[in-house]
Amino acid sequence: MKHITKTQPSKIQGIVKEFPTLFDQAFSIDCGDGWAELVRLVCKYFQMNVDGKQEVKEIKFSQIKEKFGFLRVYFNISFHKDTKDTQNTYERMHMFIFAIENISGLVCETCGIMKTAKKNVQIRTPGSFWKKTMCDKCFEKAEKAYKKRMKD
Ligand SMILES: [Zn+2]
Repeated sequence: MKHITKTQPSKIQGIVKEFPTLFDQAFSIDCGDGWAELVRLVCKYFQMNVDGKQEVKEIKFSQIKEKFGFLRVYFNISFHKDTKDTQNTYERMHMFIFAIENISGLVCETCGIMKTAKKNVQIRTPGSFWKKTMCDKCFEKAEKAYKKRMKD
């Protein structure tokens, strides 16, 4: 997967251009295309807060990545002035991110479908210690590719 994203811009990386005010231009979204809709949802929510709330000055993502099979989103937010409202806005955003991060544990990072009930925990990628959220189909594909690599 990694070498493919280097030669050809992945679907998820295109989100950086869709929301130019939320990202620095060289920003790299470090997770699989399967989570594109989850990341897009976070972007839409953030954009809504920048556009609709006068107290929000700027929101920038600092990191979006996969960790232990879950999506992780880090961001910086600045306000025009510090009030009780700004604290509430900040907390709401964190709660939103928290929910999306938890949902990512149910969505295949590779193809974006909801995981089947058969495997209901984050699974280890074949041939590594890394935990990933994958559907059965993508797991079997990864397993086959790993076995083929071992034979060659
Ligand atoms: Zn899948």
